[in-house]
Amino acid sequence: MSLDSQIQNNGVIVAKLDDLLNWARLSSMWPISFGIACCAIEMMGAMAANYDLDRLGVFPRPSPRQSDVMIIAGTVTFKMADRIRKLYEQMPEPKYVISMGSCSNCGGPYWQHGYHVVKGVDRVIPVDVYVQGCPPRPEALIGAFLELQKKIEKESLLGEQLFNQKA
Ligand code: SF4
Repeated sequence: MSLDSQIQNNGVIVAKLDDLLNWARLSSMWPISFGIACCAIEMMGAMAANYDLDRLGVFPRPSPRQSDVMIIAGTVTFKMADRIRKLYEQMPEPKYVISMGSCSNCGGPYWQHGYHVVKGVDRVIPVDVYVQGCPPRPEALIGAFLELQKKIEKESLLGEQLFNQKA
């Protein structure tokens, strides 16, 4: 029985500590608020009133030290890659990355001739969920957060894997 139904049925929860911690973590994912290019407009749309990502507990934070999710929304230039890596390293573990859009996934329209563009942000930091599209719609970003929730649900915070650096 899920934790939600246990609360609704009994008002009492009997669960593993891992399940409780994961439930809290997946219900309050805080992405660092920054965008790089046009995909960021769709990201902002997902946060605004029409789509309202807040209802999933997703609140943008202005500091990497308060964030556990990074959304790479836009074209990753070599100049920007260093900044992205630095911000990622300032985020506390456990942390997650959503690559939003073709540019971030593989270089997008700059794949062939963009000498200044990194051909995929996963060459700079590890990526947990990829969102396809140029740009992806807000619904696609919401879908990425739902995928991330499924991933977090299966993790073991008490196991050592979350405390190891992923890159
Ligand atoms: S994937 Fe398309 S919409 Fe997104 S940053 Fe690249 S060019 Fe812009």
